Amino acid sequence: MGRLSLLFVSLLGVGLSNGFLFGSSKPKADPEWTHYHGQQQMEKRLLDIHQKCPHVTALYEIGKSVESRPLVVIHFSTTPGEHVSMKPELKYVGNMHGNEPVGRELLLRLAESLCDGVVNKDKEIIQLINSTSIHLLPSMNPDGFELALKTEPEKRKWLTGRSNANGVDLNRDFPDLDGVFYELEKMKVPKFDHLMDLFSDDKDRQPETLAVGRWILSLPFVLSANLHEGDLVANYPFDSSPEGKAVSAYSASPDDGTFRWLAETYAKNHAHMGKNDHPPCDGTAQGAFSNQGGITNGAKWYSVSGGMQDFNYLATNAMEITLELSCEKMPSGETLPQLWEDNQKALMEYMWKVHAGVKGTIYDQLTGEPIEKAVVWVRNSSAENPIKHPVTSWVHGDYYRTLPAGTYELFVGAEGYEPQAKNVTVENKVRDSAMVVDFVLKPIQAVEEAELQEVLEELAAQAANNEAFEEEN
Ligand SMILES: [Zn+2]
Repeated sequence: MGRLSLLFVSLLGVGLSNGFLFGSSKPKADPEWTHYHGQQQMEKRLLDIHQKCPHVTALYEIGKSVESRPLVVIHFSTTPGEHVSMKPELKYVGNMHGNEPVGRELLLRLAESLCDGVVNKDKEIIQLINSTSIHLLPSMNPDGFELALKTEPEKRKWLTGRSNANGVDLNRDFPDLDGVFYELEKMKVPKFDHLMDLFSDDKDRQPETLAVGRWILSLPFVLSANLHEGDLVANYPFDSSPEGKAVSAYSASPDDGTFRWLAETYAKNHAHMGKNDHPPCDGTAQGAFSNQGGITNGAKWYSVSGGMQDFNYLATNAMEITLELSCEKMPSGETLPQLWEDNQKALMEYMWKVHAGVKGTIYDQLTGEPIEKAVVWVRNSSAENPIKHPVTSWVHGDYYRTLPAGTYELFVGAEGYEPQAKNVTVENKVRDSAMVVDFVLKPIQAVEEAELQEVLEELAAQAANNEAFEEEN
């Protein structure tokens, strides 16, 4: 394809996605989006988007699959390729199971629509990109995808291409931090977050898991979603039940209310997920997800250990949910325009949630320098105790805490500083920024010095009085 016709295709794409943006048009059979993109087509598509929007995108590779396919991320930001303090980081991961490629296509299409929005000066998209750092990994398991793609649909089994090229299910390959969490709880040890410090096993992890795991730890991600297919529901932590594999029982995380609200945000803004307008994917009438608003607790559905969702929550500050976007794992490419239309609003609204709650910077009172690894606890004012999930500040002293509207008390602590508390009312009315709550902490040494100074002044005052007394006599 020549340069000119490429340009034409891009322009065509612009017009179409704009139509979808305002929800006015029926899905159009744009031939560019009615088939699955293979690895090379996907990389080319991402490169085209980057070239069309060079000032707000960066492409980067987080690692390679077993068969050496690059795991490519497209980053949307006004400062592409870098983290800027107070600008929250968000990510979407698709195609972790190779035979579940709808998310892969939706993320490519989302990337295209964000770029087109910038080119066409779409107000919402420009506001989003001005305020948000968005990372899209369309395919976490490109090897599994290629296997599923080259297998004839009629020969494709439910699990063909699910695993990576070594036959490992990547969503069972992360460190099982749920196990650590439950163990600490049993022993009544008050440690609830950043549990990688306490984790060790002798398992050799897959290159895709290592690449994504390191990526998760490398940036201060606030919000995330992992896109799958095989059902239609938004799944939230915990994924694993304390009793072990065989039991399906609700396992609430400390942020259960916030996670439900995040999952509902996706389900409600999806064309069908949260509505009672479709039969359950498994064909049974019982336990339909639509009866519970299109959301489910992971462990209540079925228990999974070593999943990516809970790893995000228990190893970092990030909150991740798992989206199941289609009953059929790999539906025909012809259905992709409809799937895009069904999900586009939900994908956008979920991204906006990265600005819910509070954020701020924590400073040293004496030096004015930001404090890294300060710990921010939150207590819902209606609860007696803080939520057992503090977040920690990043290298620029910046912290982010996703919360639904409500009144809270924030406590900040850092080694060598006096702790501090503030009461806040979170309204979540500003779409593109969380409520800013900064903290300036007194170093403990400074506290002691100040106290010493006070004592000296008091002594001096007393001495002065004594002198006056003596003079009088
Ligand atoms: Zn899956």
